[in-house]
Amino acid sequence: MEAKFWNRHTETMPRAKLDALHLHRLQALCHYVYERSPFFRKKFDAARLKPGDIRTLEDFKRKVPITDKSEFIDQQLANPPYGPTLAMPEELIVHHCETSGTTGKPLAIPYTMYDTVRYGESWIYGMWALGIRPTDTFYFAFGWGNFAGFWSTYWAARRIGCRVISGGGLDTKGHINAIMRMKPTVLISTPTFALRMAAVASEMGVDVSKSSIKFTYHAGEPGPTALPAMREQIERAWGARAGELLGIAEVDAFAPGCPVGDGVHVNEMNNFTWSMDPNTGKEVAEGEIGENIITSYSNSAQPLLNYRSHDLVRRRMSCSCGRTWAKLEGAVLGRTDFMVTVRGTNVYQTAVENLIGEIPEVSNSYELVLTREEDNDAMTVKFEPVRTVNPDRWDDLARLMSDKIHKALHVRLKCEPVPPDTLPRYELKTKRIIDQRPKEFRRALDR
Ligand SMILES: [Zn+2]
Repeated sequence: MEAKFWNRHTETMPRAKLDALHLHRLQALCHYVYERSPFFRKKFDAARLKPGDIRTLEDFKRKVPITDKSEFIDQQLANPPYGPTLAMPEELIVHHCETSGTTGKPLAIPYTMYDTVRYGESWIYGMWALGIRPTDTFYFAFGWGNFAGFWSTYWAARRIGCRVISGGGLDTKGHINAIMRMKPTVLISTPTFALRMAAVASEMGVDVSKSSIKFTYHAGEPGPTALPAMREQIERAWGARAGELLGIAEVDAFAPGCPVGDGVHVNEMNNFTWSMDPNTGKEVAEGEIGENIITSYSNSAQPLLNYRSHDLVRRRMSCSCGRTWAKLEGAVLGRTDFMVTVRGTNVYQTAVENLIGEIPEVSNSYELVLTREEDNDAMTVKFEPVRTVNPDRWDDLARLMSDKIHKALHVRLKCEPVPPDTLPRYELKTKRIIDQRPKEFRRALDR
């Protein structure tokens, strides 16, 4: 129970051993998909690639075609539910999830029993490091649907041996009452919903910092790792330690949080990852920002090789926590589909969010509106001053925010106050970016 690692042997494996294991697994995976997945066989044949051609990790990165979500969705739509992306008979599928479809049609995700066990375990490395143990009780503040994030957390809780309480379809007040009555110790929610719950509790006269919750754990949107100001708010509001996992529904809960708190570690037992320059398709050096490209070993039903995450990350190969697994500093810094260049400077979403979070007179609800002005990307920050700020001071706040961003990021953004509680609130997938640029400019940096 006092152990620092969930699995010391694998989490601290020397790099050379990890790489040898990756090569062995990637070679086996290439043979597997070539034999079982009509989708990948076609892609390999089109690239004149045979599984035996992969002799090094470099071969794998360079020769195995890059794949993207839209290809999988197109194939599934033509032949539902899974089409030629399925690598096994459909009767072996024990669980079906879907992506939320926020960027278009949802992607169907099939899992075998084996996939669900490995996917669930991915969460545990971060939970264990935070201090969660089999004696804890999980509370899920979420209405269950086909969202992989919460199902996989459930698979993790079962694997650790914790008790599980589902909040189901309760409203926010209902969740708070259930927590006070059932006394769970771990809160599972999106980070913004944890803050929303704390605010509603306060209106109800309930101080959740004195509740039974010892840990909060988050996924689904940028949370305490990407946004230190948000960590501070959540930990203070709940009197708890906040953790975060970076996952992608169709891939894996692939990057559990580092106990140091400033990044997430790629679970290298389940995934092989590298960073690609989205402009050139070439690998970027350690410490440079690039798109995270993922190959998962835990999707035997619908394999994903050299899969585009569209997440911009900064990769480091060492960490003071002792893990040898690659670390993504600050988790996700931005998205390739929302990459913004204002007068020659790349502006990353979380960099702006962190600066907004440092201003105490501004609420946690804000929007970054992208437009096109005179052949340039432009970003406007719409923010809500908190209720206690006199409307006379809203313009001063806007100036303060604009100066703060200018000083830190060397770009001048328009900052626009809107009345308190006017921007939308979300239970899942808070929409921060409102892209109003003409379509041809939106994914200009995608290949
Ligand atoms: Zn670490």
